[in-house]
Amino acid sequence: MSNEPSDSKGFETRAIHSGRDFVGDTGTVTPPVWLTSTFEYGNPNGFDYTRSGNPNFRLLDRTIASLEGAEHATSFGSGVSAITAIVSTLKSGDVVLAEENIYGCTFRLFAQVFAKFGVEVRYVDFTDPSSLEGIEGHAPTLVWIESPTNPNLKIIDIAAVADAAHAAGAALVVDNTFASSYLQRPIELGADLSLISLTKYTNGHSDALVGSVCTNSDEWQEKMIFAQKALGLQPSPMDCWLTLRGAKTEAIRMERHCSNALAFATFLEDETDVVTVRYPFLASHPQHELAKRQMAGGSGIVTVDFGRSLEDTMKVVENLTLFPKAESLGGIESLVCHPASMTHAAVPKETREAVGITDSLVRFSIGIETVEDLIIDVRQALSA
Ligand SMILES: *Cc1c(COP(=O)(O)O)cnc(C)c1O
Repeated sequence: MSNEPSDSKGFETRAIHSGRDFVGDTGTVTPPVWLTSTFEYGNPNGFDYTRSGNPNFRLLDRTIASLEGAEHATSFGSGVSAITAIVSTLKSGDVVLAEENIYGCTFRLFAQVFAKFGVEVRYVDFTDPSSLEGIEGHAPTLVWIESPTNPNLKIIDIAAVADAAHAAGAALVVDNTFASSYLQRPIELGADLSLISLTKYTNGHSDALVGSVCTNSDEWQEKMIFAQKALGLQPSPMDCWLTLRGAKTEAIRMERHCSNALAFATFLEDETDVVTVRYPFLASHPQHELAKRQMAGGSGIVTVDFGRSLEDTMKVVENLTLFPKAESLGGIESLVCHPASMTHAAVPKETREAVGITDSLVRFSIGIETVEDLIIDVRQALSA
Protein backbone atom coordinates (compact mmCIF):
# COMPACT_ATOMS: atom_id res chain seq x y z
CA MET A 1 0.00 0.00 0.00
CA SER A 2 1.78 3.10 -1.17
CA ASN A 3 -1.04 5.61 -1.25
CA GLU A 4 0.26 7.72 1.64
CA PRO A 5 -1.99 10.62 2.61
CA SER A 6 -0.43 13.79 1.29
CA ASP A 7 0.28 16.78 3.49
CA SER A 8 -2.80 18.46 2.05
CA LYS A 9 -5.02 15.94 3.84
CA GLY A 10 -6.52 17.02 7.15
CA PHE A 11 -5.07 16.32 10.60
CA GLU A 12 -7.62 13.60 11.40
CA THR A 13 -7.05 11.82 8.07
CA ARG A 14 -3.27 11.86 8.53
CA ALA A 15 -3.63 10.66 12.14
CA ILE A 16 -5.56 7.62 10.95
CA HIS A 17 -3.82 6.79 7.64
CA SER A 18 -0.15 7.83 7.89
CA GLY A 19 2.83 5.59 7.47
CA ARG A 20 1.48 2.13 6.73
CA ASP A 21 3.02 1.61 3.31
CA PHE A 22 5.70 -0.87 4.45
CA VAL A 23 3.49 -2.99 6.68
CA GLY A 24 3.35 -5.79 4.17
CA ASP A 25 1.05 -7.90 2.12
CA THR A 26 -0.96 -9.52 4.93
CA GLY A 27 -3.90 -7.19 4.43
CA THR A 28 -3.81 -6.22 8.07
CA VAL A 29 -5.78 -3.07 8.80
CA THR A 30 -4.45 -2.70 12.33
CA PRO A 31 -0.69 -3.17 12.59
CA PRO A 32 0.67 -5.85 14.91
CA VAL A 33 3.11 -5.28 17.75
CA TRP A 34 6.54 -6.38 16.51
CA LEU A 35 7.87 -8.04 19.65
CA THR A 36 11.36 -8.81 18.46
CA SER A 37 14.73 -7.61 19.65
CA THR A 38 16.52 -8.33 16.38
CA PHE A 39 15.97 -8.61 12.62
CA GLU A 40 17.58 -10.79 9.96
CA TYR A 41 20.29 -8.99 8.03
CA GLY A 42 19.44 -7.73 4.54
CA ASN A 43 15.70 -7.15 5.06
CA PRO A 44 14.34 -4.58 2.58
CA ASN A 45 13.37 -2.10 5.32
CA GLY A 46 16.82 -1.99 6.85
CA PHE A 47 15.80 -3.00 10.39
CA ASP A 48 18.64 -4.54 12.42
CA TYR A 49 18.10 -4.34 16.18
CA THR A 50 15.17 -2.82 18.10
CA ARG A 51 17.34 -0.39 20.07
CA SER A 52 18.00 1.40 16.77
CA GLY A 53 14.62 0.90 15.11
CA ASN A 54 11.48 -1.22 15.02
CA PRO A 55 8.42 -1.14 12.72
CA ASN A 56 6.25 0.14 15.60
CA PHE A 57 8.62 3.08 16.09
CA ARG A 58 8.56 3.83 12.39
CA LEU A 59 4.75 3.84 12.20
CA LEU A 60 4.55 6.20 15.17
CA ASP A 61 7.38 8.45 13.90
CA ARG A 62 5.75 8.94 10.52
CA THR A 63 2.42 9.84 12.05
CA ILE A 64 3.89 12.22 14.64
CA ALA A 65 6.06 13.95 12.02
CA SER A 66 3.01 14.43 9.82
CA LEU A 67 0.86 15.75 12.68
CA GLU A 68 3.61 18.18 13.79
CA GLY A 69 4.16 19.37 10.22
CA ALA A 70 7.79 18.20 10.43
CA GLU A 71 10.05 16.21 8.11
CA HIS A 72 11.24 13.85 10.83
CA ALA A 73 10.29 12.46 14.22
CA THR A 74 12.18 10.08 16.52
CA SER A 75 10.50 8.21 19.37
CA PHE A 76 12.08 7.70 22.77
CA GLY A 77 11.16 5.77 25.91
CA SER A 78 9.55 8.82 27.57
CA GLY A 79 9.45 12.60 27.33
CA VAL A 80 12.44 12.71 29.66
CA SER A 81 14.36 10.35 27.32
CA ALA A 82 13.59 12.74 24.45
CA ILE A 83 14.94 15.63 26.53
CA THR A 84 18.03 13.56 27.38
CA ALA A 85 18.60 12.87 23.67
CA ILE A 86 18.60 16.59 22.85
CA VAL A 87 20.81 17.61 25.77
CA SER A 88 23.26 14.76 25.00
CA THR A 89 24.21 16.62 21.80
CA LEU A 90 25.77 19.43 23.90
CA LYS A 91 29.33 19.62 25.16
CA SER A 92 31.04 21.06 28.20
CA GLY A 93 30.91 24.88 28.13
CA ASP A 94 27.69 25.07 26.11
CA VAL A 95 24.98 27.37 27.48
CA VAL A 96 21.24 26.67 27.40
CA LEU A 97 18.99 29.68 27.87
CA ALA A 98 15.73 28.34 29.31
CA GLU A 99 12.33 29.63 30.33
CA GLU A 100 12.23 29.96 34.14
CA ASN A 101 8.85 28.21 34.48
CA ILE A 102 10.22 25.04 32.83
CA TYR A 103 8.92 21.49 33.48
CA GLY A 104 10.26 20.21 36.82
CA CYS A 105 11.99 17.08 35.47
CA THR A 106 13.75 19.12 32.77
CA PHE A 107 15.01 21.44 35.52
CA ARG A 108 16.20 18.47 37.59
CA LEU A 109 17.94 16.85 34.62
CA PHE A 110 19.87 20.03 33.88
CA ALA A 111 20.70 20.72 37.55
CA GLN A 112 21.53 17.23 38.80
CA VAL A 113 22.86 15.45 35.72
CA PHE A 114 24.07 17.69 32.90
CA ALA A 115 25.57 20.38 35.17
CA LYS A 116 28.18 17.73 36.11
CA PHE A 117 29.16 17.51 32.44
CA GLY A 118 29.69 21.27 32.19
CA VAL A 119 26.44 22.23 30.45
CA GLU A 120 25.31 25.54 31.93
CA VAL A 121 21.64 26.55 32.06
CA ARG A 122 20.49 30.12 32.63
CA TYR A 123 16.85 30.97 33.30
CA VAL A 124 14.88 33.96 32.08
CA ASP A 125 11.23 34.97 31.79
CA PHE A 126 10.42 34.68 28.08
CA THR A 127 7.17 36.64 28.42
CA ASP A 128 9.36 39.69 29.13
CA PRO A 129 10.33 41.27 25.75
CA SER A 130 13.76 42.29 27.08
CA SER A 131 14.61 38.56 27.35
CA LEU A 132 14.58 38.34 23.56
CA GLU A 133 17.01 41.24 23.14
CA GLY A 134 19.19 39.63 25.82
CA ILE A 135 19.60 36.23 24.10
CA GLU A 136 22.73 37.15 22.18
CA GLY A 137 24.52 38.26 25.35
CA HIS A 138 24.31 34.70 26.72
CA ALA A 139 25.70 33.17 23.51
CA PRO A 140 23.52 30.08 24.01
CA THR A 141 23.74 26.92 21.90
CA LEU A 142 20.09 26.17 22.63
CA VAL A 143 17.11 28.24 23.68
CA TRP A 144 14.59 26.09 25.55
CA ILE A 145 10.95 27.04 26.08
CA GLU A 146 7.56 25.47 26.69
CA SER A 147 4.20 27.03 25.95
CA PRO A 148 1.87 26.83 27.81
CA THR A 149 4.17 26.43 30.82
CA ASN A 150 3.59 24.15 33.80
CA PRO A 151 1.72 24.91 36.04
CA ASN A 152 1.34 28.68 35.46
CA LEU A 153 0.20 28.36 31.82
CA LYS A 154 2.29 31.29 30.61
CA ILE A 155 2.13 31.65 26.83
CA ILE A 156 5.39 32.38 25.04
CA ASP A 157 5.58 33.80 21.52
CA ILE A 158 7.26 30.90 19.71
CA ALA A 159 7.77 32.71 16.37
CA ALA A 160 9.33 35.74 18.10
CA VAL A 161 11.66 33.57 20.21
CA ALA A 162 12.62 31.54 17.11
CA ASP A 163 13.62 34.72 15.24
CA ALA A 164 15.61 36.06 18.19
CA ALA A 165 17.30 32.70 18.86
CA HIS A 166 18.30 32.32 15.20
CA ALA A 167 19.65 35.88 15.09
CA ALA A 168 21.85 34.93 18.05
CA GLY A 169 23.02 31.72 16.34
CA ALA A 170 21.08 29.41 18.68
CA ALA A 171 18.65 26.60 17.92
CA LEU A 172 15.18 26.74 19.49
CA VAL A 173 13.69 23.76 21.35
CA VAL A 174 9.98 23.94 22.18
CA ASP A 175 8.37 21.49 24.59
CA ASN A 176 4.95 21.11 22.95
CA THR A 177 3.51 18.68 25.50
CA PHE A 178 0.91 20.96 27.12
CA ALA A 179 -0.46 22.19 23.80
CA SER A 180 -0.38 18.95 21.72
CA SER A 181 0.24 18.72 17.96
CA TYR A 182 -3.43 19.29 17.29
CA LEU A 183 -3.46 22.75 18.86
CA GLN A 184 0.05 24.07 18.20
CA ARG A 185 2.88 23.27 15.76
CA PRO A 186 6.21 24.76 16.83
CA ILE A 187 8.14 23.66 13.70
CA GLU A 188 5.74 25.67 11.52
CA LEU A 189 6.34 28.64 13.85
CA GLY A 190 10.11 28.44 13.34
CA ALA A 191 11.35 26.11 16.10
CA ASP A 192 14.25 23.81 15.21
CA LEU A 193 13.06 21.01 17.49
CA SER A 194 9.61 20.23 18.85
CA LEU A 195 9.73 17.89 21.80
CA ILE A 196 6.58 16.12 23.00
CA SER A 197 5.84 13.82 25.89
CA LEU A 198 3.47 11.60 23.88
CA THR A 199 2.61 10.05 27.26
CA LYS A 200 0.16 12.92 27.72
CA TYR A 201 -2.32 14.10 25.06
CA THR A 202 -1.08 12.02 22.10
CA ASN A 203 -1.53 8.71 23.89
CA GLY A 204 -4.36 10.21 25.89
CA HIS A 205 -5.23 7.10 27.90
CA SER A 206 -2.58 7.13 30.66
CA ASP A 207 -1.32 3.66 29.75
CA ALA A 208 2.12 4.11 28.13
CA LEU A 209 5.20 6.35 28.19
CA VAL A 210 6.76 7.62 24.95
CA GLY A 211 8.50 10.86 23.93
CA SER A 212 9.27 12.29 20.50
CA VAL A 213 11.56 14.88 18.93
CA CYS A 214 10.42 16.41 15.62
CA THR A 215 12.56 18.47 13.25
CA ASN A 216 12.97 19.57 9.63
CA SER A 217 16.76 19.35 9.89
CA ASP A 218 18.51 16.23 8.53
CA GLU A 219 21.47 17.01 10.76
CA TRP A 220 19.36 17.13 13.94
CA GLN A 221 17.52 13.99 12.84
CA GLU A 222 20.81 12.10 12.54
CA LYS A 223 21.73 13.21 16.05
CA MET A 224 18.39 11.97 17.40
CA ILE A 225 18.72 8.55 15.72
CA PHE A 226 22.25 8.31 17.09
CA ALA A 227 21.10 9.24 20.62
CA GLN A 228 18.31 6.66 20.47
CA LYS A 229 20.68 3.78 19.84
CA ALA A 230 23.87 5.01 21.49
CA LEU A 231 22.22 6.01 24.78
CA GLY A 232 19.61 3.25 24.77
CA LEU A 233 16.70 5.70 24.87
CA GLN A 234 14.35 3.69 22.64
CA PRO A 235 10.67 3.15 23.54
CA SER A 236 9.01 -0.28 23.70
CA PRO A 237 7.12 -1.50 20.62
CA MET A 238 4.00 -2.04 22.75
CA ASP A 239 4.06 1.54 24.08
CA CYS A 240 4.44 2.84 20.51
CA TRP A 241 1.48 0.74 19.42
CA LEU A 242 -0.70 2.11 22.24
CA THR A 243 0.44 5.67 21.54
CA LEU A 244 -0.26 5.38 17.82
CA ARG A 245 -3.74 4.11 18.64
CA GLY A 246 -4.19 7.14 20.88
CA ALA A 247 -2.98 9.52 18.16
CA LYS A 248 -5.81 8.38 15.89
CA THR A 249 -8.37 10.03 18.20
CA GLU A 250 -6.23 13.00 19.27
CA ALA A 251 -8.28 15.54 17.30
CA ILE A 252 -11.67 14.66 18.75
CA ARG A 253 -10.27 14.24 22.25
CA MET A 254 -8.57 17.64 22.11
CA GLU A 255 -11.80 19.30 20.98
CA ARG A 256 -13.53 17.93 24.08
CA HIS A 257 -10.59 18.70 26.41
CA CYS A 258 -10.72 22.31 25.19
CA SER A 259 -14.47 22.80 25.46
CA ASN A 260 -14.63 21.11 28.88
CA ALA A 261 -11.66 23.09 30.24
CA LEU A 262 -13.09 26.40 29.00
CA ALA A 263 -16.48 25.66 30.60
CA PHE A 264 -14.81 24.55 33.85
CA ALA A 265 -12.56 27.62 33.97
CA THR A 266 -15.45 29.96 33.18
CA PHE A 267 -17.51 28.44 35.97
CA LEU A 268 -14.70 28.91 38.50
CA GLU A 269 -14.03 32.47 37.39
CA ASP A 270 -17.65 33.64 37.27
CA GLU A 271 -19.38 31.69 39.99
CA THR A 272 -16.94 31.01 42.82
CA ASP A 273 -14.77 33.00 45.20
CA VAL A 274 -11.44 31.57 44.03
CA VAL A 275 -8.70 34.20 43.68
CA THR A 276 -7.40 33.50 40.16
CA VAL A 277 -8.22 31.12 37.35
CA ARG A 278 -5.58 30.62 34.70
CA TYR A 279 -6.66 29.30 31.30
CA PRO A 280 -5.19 30.55 28.00
CA PHE A 281 -8.57 30.91 26.30
CA LEU A 282 -10.13 32.99 29.09
CA ALA A 283 -10.13 36.70 28.22
CA SER A 284 -8.55 37.37 31.66
CA HIS A 285 -5.36 35.43 30.74
CA PRO A 286 -2.44 37.90 30.44
CA GLN A 287 -1.38 36.50 27.04
CA HIS A 288 -4.87 35.71 25.78
CA GLU A 289 -4.42 37.40 22.37
CA LEU A 290 -1.15 35.57 21.74
CA ALA A 291 -2.70 32.28 22.84
CA LYS A 292 -5.53 32.70 20.32
CA ARG A 293 -3.03 33.47 17.57
CA GLN A 294 -0.65 30.64 18.35
CA MET A 295 -3.01 27.85 19.47
CA ALA A 296 -6.19 26.42 17.97
CA GLY A 297 -7.68 25.94 21.45
CA GLY A 298 -6.75 26.42 25.10
CA SER A 299 -5.94 22.71 25.78
CA GLY A 300 -7.07 20.89 28.90
CA ILE A 301 -5.20 22.35 31.86
CA VAL A 302 -6.78 24.84 34.26
CA THR A 303 -4.73 26.27 37.13
CA VAL A 304 -6.57 27.82 40.05
CA ASP A 305 -5.44 29.77 43.09
CA PHE A 306 -8.05 29.04 45.76
CA GLY A 307 -6.76 31.82 48.01
CA ARG A 308 -7.19 29.51 51.00
CA SER A 309 -4.77 28.18 53.58
CA LEU A 310 -2.72 25.09 52.77
CA GLU A 311 -5.00 23.03 55.02
CA ASP A 312 -8.22 24.31 53.42
CA THR A 313 -6.81 23.89 49.92
CA MET A 314 -5.96 20.26 50.71
CA LYS A 315 -9.52 19.76 52.03
CA VAL A 316 -11.00 20.96 48.73
CA VAL A 317 -8.71 18.61 46.82
CA GLU A 318 -9.60 15.67 49.08
CA ASN A 319 -13.34 16.40 48.76
CA LEU A 320 -13.32 16.01 44.97
CA THR A 321 -14.77 12.68 43.85
CA LEU A 322 -14.18 12.75 40.06
CA PHE A 323 -10.55 13.97 40.19
CA PRO A 324 -8.02 11.42 41.43
CA LYS A 325 -5.05 13.22 42.98
CA ALA A 326 -2.23 12.23 40.64
CA GLU A 327 0.68 13.59 38.67
CA SER A 328 0.55 13.60 34.84
CA LEU A 329 -2.08 15.09 32.57
CA GLY A 330 -3.65 14.78 29.16
CA GLY A 331 -5.60 11.57 29.69
CA ILE A 332 -9.31 11.10 29.06
CA GLU A 333 -9.85 11.08 32.86
CA SER A 334 -9.67 14.29 34.87
CA LEU A 335 -6.92 14.55 37.47
CA VAL A 336 -6.01 17.07 40.13
CA CYS A 337 -2.49 18.02 41.20
CA HIS A 338 -1.37 20.19 44.12
CA PRO A 339 2.03 21.36 42.82
CA ALA A 340 3.39 22.60 46.17
CA SER A 341 3.04 19.15 47.78
CA MET A 342 3.44 17.00 44.65
CA THR A 343 5.30 17.99 41.46
CA HIS A 344 7.20 20.90 43.05
CA ALA A 345 7.60 19.55 46.61
CA ALA A 346 11.38 19.38 46.23
CA VAL A 347 11.57 23.09 45.37
CA PRO A 348 12.07 25.32 48.47
CA LYS A 349 8.94 27.30 49.44
CA GLU A 350 10.48 30.73 48.70
CA THR A 351 11.70 29.63 45.25
CA ARG A 352 8.30 28.10 44.54
CA GLU A 353 6.44 31.23 45.51
CA ALA A 354 8.81 33.45 43.52
CA VAL A 355 7.53 31.74 40.34
CA GLY A 356 3.90 31.83 41.51
CA ILE A 357 3.50 28.30 42.91
CA THR A 358 1.68 29.10 46.15
CA ASP A 359 0.29 26.63 48.70
CA SER A 360 -3.22 27.37 47.44
CA LEU A 361 -2.45 26.70 43.76
CA VAL A 362 -4.16 23.66 42.24
CA ARG A 363 -3.75 22.29 38.71
CA PHE A 364 -6.64 20.49 37.06
CA SER A 365 -6.16 18.25 34.04
CA ILE A 366 -9.64 18.35 32.57
CA GLY A 367 -10.67 15.08 30.95
CA ILE A 368 -13.41 14.32 28.47
CA GLU A 369 -16.16 13.43 30.97
CA THR A 370 -19.55 15.20 31.00
CA VAL A 371 -18.45 18.68 32.02
CA GLU A 372 -21.57 19.39 34.13
CA ASP A 373 -20.50 16.52 36.41
CA LEU A 374 -17.02 18.02 36.81
CA ILE A 375 -18.54 21.39 37.68
CA ILE A 376 -20.98 19.87 40.20
CA ASP A 377 -18.07 18.04 41.79
CA VAL A 378 -15.86 21.09 42.22
CA ARG A 379 -18.81 23.12 43.48
CA GLN A 380 -19.57 20.60 46.26
CA ALA A 381 -15.85 20.32 47.12
CA LEU A 382 -15.59 24.10 47.52
CA SER A 383 -18.65 24.36 49.77
CA ALA A 384 -18.13 21.20 51.84
C1 LIG B 1 5.38 14.91 31.39
C2 LIG B 1 6.19 15.95 30.73
C3 LIG B 1 7.48 15.68 30.25
C4 LIG B 1 8.15 14.34 30.48
O1 LIG B 1 7.50 13.31 29.86
P1 LIG B 1 7.53 11.78 30.40
O2 LIG B 1 6.88 11.06 29.28
O3 LIG B 1 6.76 11.78 31.68
O4 LIG B 1 8.95 11.42 30.61
C5 LIG B 1 8.18 16.69 29.62
N1 LIG B 1 7.64 17.92 29.46
C6 LIG B 1 6.40 18.22 29.93
C7 LIG B 1 5.89 19.61 29.74
C8 LIG B 1 5.63 17.26 30.57
O5 LIG B 1 4.42 17.57 31.03
